[in-house]
Amino acid sequence: MQNREFQTEVSQLLHLIIHSLYSHPEIFLRELISNSSDALDKLRHLTLTEDGFKGLAFEPRIDLTLDEEAQTLTIADTGIGMNEEDLVSHLGTIARSGTKSFLNHLSGDAKKDSNLIGQFGVGFYSAFMVADRVEVISRKAGEEQACRWESDGKTGYTVDAAEREQAGTTVIVHLNEEGKQYANNWRLQEIVKKYSNHIAFPIFLTYDKSEWNAEEEKQEKTRVTEQVNAASALWRRPKSELTDEDYKEMYKGISGDFEDPLFWFHTKAEGSLEYTTLFFIPSKAPLDLYQSDYQGGVKLYVKRVFILDDSRELLPQYLRFVKGIIDSEDLPLNVSREILQQNRVLQSIRTASVKKILSELKTQAVNQPEKYAQFIAEFNRPLKEGLYGDFANRETLLELIRVKSSLVDGVTSLAEAKARMREGQKALYYITGGKEQLLRNSPLLEVYRKKGIEVLILDDDIDEIVFGTIAAYGETALKSVNNAGAAEELKDESDAPKSEGLEPLLARIRGILGDRVKDVRASVRLADSPSCIVRDEDAPSLQMQQMMRAMGQANVPEVKPTLEINPDHAIVKKLEARAEDELMVDAAWLLLDQALLLEGIPLENPGEFVQRLNRVLGQTV
Ligand code: ADP
Repeated sequence: MQNREFQTEVSQLLHLIIHSLYSHPEIFLRELISNSSDALDKLRHLTLTEDGFKGLAFEPRIDLTLDEEAQTLTIADTGIGMNEEDLVSHLGTIARSGTKSFLNHLSGDAKKDSNLIGQFGVGFYSAFMVADRVEVISRKAGEEQACRWESDGKTGYTVDAAEREQAGTTVIVHLNEEGKQYANNWRLQEIVKKYSNHIAFPIFLTYDKSEWNAEEEKQEKTRVTEQVNAASALWRRPKSELTDEDYKEMYKGISGDFEDPLFWFHTKAEGSLEYTTLFFIPSKAPLDLYQSDYQGGVKLYVKRVFILDDSRELLPQYLRFVKGIIDSEDLPLNVSREILQQNRVLQSIRTASVKKILSELKTQAVNQPEKYAQFIAEFNRPLKEGLYGDFANRETLLELIRVKSSLVDGVTSLAEAKARMREGQKALYYITGGKEQLLRNSPLLEVYRKKGIEVLILDDDIDEIVFGTIAAYGETALKSVNNAGAAEELKDESDAPKSEGLEPLLARIRGILGDRVKDVRASVRLADSPSCIVRDEDAPSLQMQQMMRAMGQANVPEVKPTLEINPDHAIVKKLEARAEDELMVDAAWLLLDQALLLEGIPLENPGEFVQRLNRVLGQTV
């Protein structure tokens, strides 16, 4: 027998589970059943695809056995099983960074924290909420030797050789004080029905049943084994037979989420291809949605048989928050991952599924605006990722996303913004390159405000990249106000003579700033600020350039900003008269530096900025 210690993270997790996650201890059963169901899925898949396993007698089932006297509950399956190596790596370490991040996200509020538990696959360890000791006896399919793992969930565990008649896993939960309530067949049946009713395999419960013996006139106990779950693939049943409660239950069973889903879309396609899809949109985005090892929640079945759950093949990456199933009649059962990548049937199902999900969301936006707002609060950003990658659905995605705006509170759709366009307005305008407050206060918005034209405030960090690739929304051009040319079309007739008069001052500033700027010119977009920074069409913003350099991109082209000066501003008017004065040196740099500050760009030399400011102040006080 070998004694081993848990990886630090496991100990940390166990400590938390045992000491603070008591609000729903019953979920331990759902977690263990779900592990068994996965193990059965895996073995079934092997028996269909791997030569060595084909034809193997496979009787998938999950057996719960209650021993009231010994106060143990046993969960046994005929699934793929684990050998010693598997036991050590699966039940002694935490591999996924998602789980590690779970530990960092704990709030200390036991209720909230226990809601997180399922999302991070800490499933097995939840048994220690109700047990003071857990034994796992497992034999891997295709191997002879079984192995026994045992732990009290404190410091470590032991592994040693064991015997098991056939492949599969038996988990023996030695119930503790907290767990005693589960040594009750009614309670167990209730929990299985609640969480695991639609697990595709039969779940049996063996227990002592009390029955009234009429002849002998007394209660009698008999040992019985009964099936407790419906074991039906719910998605294959007609929609008309299913209630909202059925869908919600199934969602909770497959997702480990405690909250109801926001929406679900159940479709049966019957045509050249036959398949069923059932997709759920969670009400909250998982915390690890943006981590590289995030696991999507869509499973592929062929004729009710689980095939794989690699969502990357099943839905585009940006829809990774969708949970559910795709069940096809046309794919071969022994289809492999490699074949799937080029499989036409799957490609068609995938294309149709994406269209379906997006069009259903569009319908919900109209029919259930409040729920849709909740959806947007969680998933607006992944949709924007789709704008960048999914060209085929770009128009629909542009309908679905929501953005902030200079004219309205909260968020707005592009369609609403388009409906608000002023007469003669040539494009929908937007601003990018910083946090919301910075953008709202940007001098670049002044001319639009003056003319009552709406500007969309795109403050998400991916907005600049995403919208930089989108030239139009339908027939309407989408233009960034950060671009040098954007304000040209708003020019008034009075602007031209004003800028001509400004030329001597501009020339002086050009001379002072030298090659720090691309050009200095008169602005038509400013009302209250003396100066602002603009950039060429197609050039990345200064913020973006900074970000690219920070991310180690070596050859970011240095794009120099163009400084625009407001001919109507009182300071500029006074400076016009003093274009040749010594004061202009400080003034020119201050005009540039303040424009950079408003763009959110840190100054290269703040000390110099302060000295200049003080010199100029010194002349006025
Ligand atoms: P998760 O199920 O989210 O991966 P768990 O901690 O519940 O996390 O389980 C860890 C791993 O242990 C599983 O991924 C699986 O490989 C293995 N495992 C757990 N239970 C079983 C079982 N009944 N049969 C086979 N393997 C299992």
